[in-house]
Amino acid sequence: MKIAVLRERVEGETRVAATPETVARLVALGAEFAVETDAGAKARFPDADYAAAGATLGTAAAVTKGANVVLTVRRPQAASLKSVAAGALVIGGMDPFGHEADIAALADTGVTLVAMEFMPRITRAQVMDILSSQANLAGYQAVIDAAGVFERAMPMMMTAAGTVRPAKVFVMGAGVAGLQAIATARRLGAMVTATDVRAAAGEQVESLGAKFVMTEALKDASGSGGYARELTDAEKAAQSELVAGHISKQDIVITTALIPGRPAPQLVTAAMVASMAPGSVVVDLAAERGGNVALTKPDEVVVTDNGVTILGPTNMAGRLATSASQLYARNLAAFLETLIDKSEKTLAIDWEDELVKATVLTRDGAIVHPNIKAPKAAAAKPTKPAAAAKSAASKSATTSLTAPKTAAAKPAAAKKPATAKKPAARKAGAAKPAAASRARKPATKESK
Ligand code: NAD
Repeated sequence: MKIAVLRERVEGETRVAATPETVARLVALGAEFAVETDAGAKARFPDADYAAAGATLGTAAAVTKGANVVLTVRRPQAASLKSVAAGALVIGGMDPFGHEADIAALADTGVTLVAMEFMPRITRAQVMDILSSQANLAGYQAVIDAAGVFERAMPMMMTAAGTVRPAKVFVMGAGVAGLQAIATARRLGAMVTATDVRAAAGEQVESLGAKFVMTEALKDASGSGGYARELTDAEKAAQSELVAGHISKQDIVITTALIPGRPAPQLVTAAMVASMAPGSVVVDLAAERGGNVALTKPDEVVVTDNGVTILGPTNMAGRLATSASQLYARNLAAFLETLIDKSEKTLAIDWEDELVKATVLTRDGAIVHPNIKAPKAAAAKPTKPAAAAKSAASKSATTSLTAPKTAAAKPAAAKKPATAKKPAARKAGAAKPAAASRARKPATKESK
């Protein structure tokens, strides 16, 4: 049973799909591990540590040759799987919606593609939930980034020279990322309010010491599987009125709202941003799905004419490459363990297992997932981030955020807009199976 780990080729991707810890864990179950040279370098896992854990190191072609399983973070290009044998499992975040041509091209290679984001949200699979593990970190980092560009203190400060009031933080969308953002902002001493369209979120928000803000007109827009449904036009208008009144008084707004299989709902208009005080900060964690904020530009820092900074990272978890890789790799290892016969030390896939059925996209040269339709034209066409289509509505200054951090990385001063006065953030990202799943990652350019 040979398991290969590829270096990620999508631009700006810092994570790796296996760590020395998970390599050792699976080697103990009889796996032979082959890791592409430098696969873990950006996440601070040196080749020597993989070797010490029992892996061999080599080129992509060498590590994938004869592999039964290939682990990735992002959907690989079909061309990079040339040495992978038909029938091998390729497991990772596949972001299939909107990228059906790429999935069809991967199906043509004969590999069995497994989309980890389609993992059912059932108790048994919690340990394999890549959406939760990565969203949790993203929610945390959103607050840290906001605090980094915010030109005031977060907590109340009582000093001999007088009192500084605590920052007011508003979190929109109280799912996994939003709840972690609330908890982090509270730990930093901010006054936190939050909104969501699911009534059940109210209790969770309040249990974290934040105030839940919800319009009377919107009783509950829970969809299936614990996710939200799209709002009606009347509900959207009521929510917009509520937000418009609230947002002008906030210092920091963190948006995390997503709807399965749909573009992110637009919650914050240009006029709402214009109503905020100079120095306010908005972090749009939905940037990779089109954004919750009208002025968001993916992976750029926008500073509006009225001095509001808007951050739109598309790979927030990737900004915490080490932690994100640790959790992601454990998610994958936990799933792999269910596919291994521990006494025979071989792969023994139960194709009827609900976890396998929910996550397998392609098999024997065809797309087999009920929610993914083969495109009419079989040829794969180049993809681009959905968010990139967003209009450049703002005249504001913009700066790229995409470069991965390095050991020498300083406060993202180098990444701040010319007009900014202060360094940006320190570092420059119940069972509802497949149907509830949604892709969060943009298809971005691959390097060689
Ligand atoms: P998500 O990423 O799909 O969406 C983020 C949040 O945005 C959700 O809370 C959603 O209700 C909210 N939202 C959508 N439209 C909105 C709008 N117009 N305005 C404001 N908010 C809006 O959701 P998620 O973070 O993946 O979590 C969804 C739910 O699933 C949560 O209740 C979470 O606790 C639960 N969950 C369960 C499991 C499990 O059972 N294993 C695992 C993870 C999460």
